[in-house]
Amino acid sequence: MELVFATQNLHKKDEMEALLKGHTLIMPRQLSVDYSFDETGSTLIENALGKAMHLYRLCKRPTIADDTGLFIDALGGNPGVRTARYGEDHFGRLLESHERNEYLLENMKGITGSARSARFACALALVLDTQRIFVFQETLEGMIASEPDGREGFGYDPVFYLPSQGRTLAQLSSEEKNSISHRARSAKALLALIDSFEKGD
Ligand code: IMP
Repeated sequence: MELVFATQNLHKKDEMEALLKGHTLIMPRQLSVDYSFDETGSTLIENALGKAMHLYRLCKRPTIADDTGLFIDALGGNPGVRTARYGEDHFGRLLESHERNEYLLENMKGITGSARSARFACALALVLDTQRIFVFQETLEGMIASEPDGREGFGYDPVFYLPSQGRTLAQLSSEEKNSISHRARSAKALLALIDSFEKGD
């Protein structure tokens, strides 16, 4: 199945295409669609659905969109839906990933042991047409590390520690990460659905 993916980021598109094996993802710019969307929703699902529906209106073809957040228990669920903009209010500018991680570790000072629990959540929306709309959200449980570790991955991976692996996400290979991640779990649910359409279920 061909799906238009609401992203301008080639790395994200390649990763999602690897997760949705057997299906083809197209970026809006390949269709000369000028796509942009302000992620102002109060939940990941609102943002993912908003992006997929907006893109559907522009290109009239099946679309998907995702939104991810890091929810930290000791910070009352923050940064949550504002994960990409974490620290912006404090510094008055959008931070680089390594700066966000430093700011996060600073805010977690004095919080120890199991109180450092956190999870990534990934919402994924599929819009087939104006009436056939599906949303999935999955999570990956972990802890906020006391210091960054690892060189793989991106974003918060160096500070997201997986007790079951004894490593941070940035210490996993992309294959290892893609077998357990929040995004992989949402994509797996979406894949099962679109595969079932193709079988005529
Ligand atoms: P987006 O929804 O993919 O744009 O991601 C929102 C924010 O979460 C950005 O700051 C990303 O860097 C971060 N993020 C998303 N997915 C991951 C991940 O798998 N690992 C680490 N950080 C992530």
